[in-house]
Amino acid sequence: MTTIRASSIKNYITDFFVEEDDVLRRVKKRAQQTGLPAIEVPSTVGKLLYCLAKIQQPQKILEIGTLAGYSTIWLARALPPTGRLISLEHNTQHAQLARENFLLAALDHLIEVQEGLAQNLMEKMIQQSECFDLIFIDADKENYPLYLQLAVKLSRSGTLILSDNLIPKGDNIGTPENIEAHGIYQFNQDLASHPQLESILSTTVVGSQGRMDALGISIVR
Ligand code: SAH
Ligand code: MG
Repeated sequence: MTTIRASSIKNYITDFFVEEDDVLRRVKKRAQQTGLPAIEVPSTVGKLLYCLAKIQQPQKILEIGTLAGYSTIWLARALPPTGRLISLEHNTQHAQLARENFLLAALDHLIEVQEGLAQNLMEKMIQQSECFDLIFIDADKENYPLYLQLAVKLSRSGTLILSDNLIPKGDNIGTPENIEAHGIYQFNQDLASHPQLESILSTTVVGSQGRMDALGISIVR
């Protein structure tokens, strides 16, 4: 019953507040046709990322986990013309399709997809003293705790760190049932107790069944 209500609420919000244009629809369709898993953020979360980015006014965004670039496009659309978004992806097929999609979206001049393991690429960026105004974590869940440590090192005071999918599947909330859930619950604990972060989880509704999930919102002190 509650998921029926959640899914109606999601549809209601989508109908009123989310305009998915032709580009975003095509990007989703191409991902589907290529056989990629349909695990991109729902359009409601895409719009939320866009709004949060508009508030943050970032010059530089880092995304961990590109897939076909659906969330990337929402974020990049909030950038100023001089902005820059780096998205990290270890799957070559995903990275290639995403690059094509950024051309299609006329955003290729703002976005760079770096191919490789996110942890390695982030270590390299730390060595080069890179710094981002907004970081979106949305890759393999078991490495979320590591990504948080690295993301903080790539931040300044005021950086906004957003993290997707912070409520894993399963009825026993807080009790991990698999390695992915273990990573997420560890991550949530790290977020809650991190001395350099002020954080909250904001619930989201994902999938056609209306499953409750959450987006982490953290501000670096
Ligand atoms: N942010 C996307 C969805 C990302 S799905 C959207 O909402 O549209 C997660 C992506 O992370 C997948 O494409 C997967 O290949 C990639 N990924 C998984 N583990 C990774 C790793 N260790 N390093 C880099 N990318 C990884
Ligand atoms: Mg996600």
